[in-house]
Amino acid sequence: MVDLSNSEAQQLGLRFVGFYFMNQKEIEHISNNNNSSLLTTSNHDRDIAGLKYVYPVLSRRAGGLSVGINFNTNNACNWRCVYCQVPDLIKGAAPDLDLPLLEEELRGFLNDVQQGDFYQRFQVETDNRVIKDIAISGNGEPTSVKNFAQIIDLIGNVATENGVLPKSRFVLITNGSLIHQQKVRKGLKALHSYGGEVWFKFDSTTKEGRVLINEATQSVKSSLENIRISSELCTTKLQTCLFDYAGQGWPVKEKLAYLEALKIISATTEVKEILLYTLARPSMQPEASQLAAILPDVLNAVAEEIRQLGFKVSVAY
Ligand code: SF4
Repeated sequence: MVDLSNSEAQQLGLRFVGFYFMNQKEIEHISNNNNSSLLTTSNHDRDIAGLKYVYPVLSRRAGGLSVGINFNTNNACNWRCVYCQVPDLIKGAAPDLDLPLLEEELRGFLNDVQQGDFYQRFQVETDNRVIKDIAISGNGEPTSVKNFAQIIDLIGNVATENGVLPKSRFVLITNGSLIHQQKVRKGLKALHSYGGEVWFKFDSTTKEGRVLINEATQSVKSSLENIRISSELCTTKLQTCLFDYAGQGWPVKEKLAYLEALKIISATTEVKEILLYTLARPSMQPEASQLAAILPDVLNAVAEEIRQLGFKVSVAY
């Protein structure tokens, strides 16, 4: 899931989780020479720390370190967004997780950052030596994992014991399609108990658009219901990616439907904030060559229209 992309919207430090792809030689070099590796804002390689579930991302806009957690080590998602940055993406759910290993990796990583020489090893600039968030953002839909609530508790407990929470943000980046499931609701309650928040993907509010952009068959109505459920259980923000697909820009029909949906969301849910962003890194899907970022002026104009509906809007270019 792109961290949104990785996301940053300024004051939130929305961090767009993306990837920096290295060839095999570079990866081997890093594996063999950790002491000389650089963690930079352009290096989002999820293998850089050599761990299975935990990966560091340095966020320029957030001004610090994001601790990413990837449940979808099989690159499986129930959607297939045309802009998805996951290589070799397949349809499916997250595999069973090795919970003792996840706990060991997270404890070890946080200890390395807080008490070890992580920042020195990866030559992180002094100003960026702070954990800004723990982000559940994987190579697929994280809520598809079994024991979702148990895993949220595991991460929340470890991060609390290490003093990372509640100081840092705890974010779940999700396409929101499974939030009606009991196991996910339970997990969102747990996330809320740690002061966490949900970033709910909401790109299109037309049936055709959702199929075209996300390859999602879930209806807009069901998605709106999941937004309502999510916002009642945990602080929920919507993340919307606007981009040019096949030279069409953002179609007027899509825009009108989106703004109408926001009016419904404003009236029926607790959602107060929208995270707008555009493409920042290459898609790994076959449609990649047909996609382009939306111009900042266009994003800003859309943001203003959304603000007129009463939402707070953050924009990441
Ligand atoms: S929802 Fe799935 S397909 Fe879409 S960007 Fe996220 S991981 Fe990729």
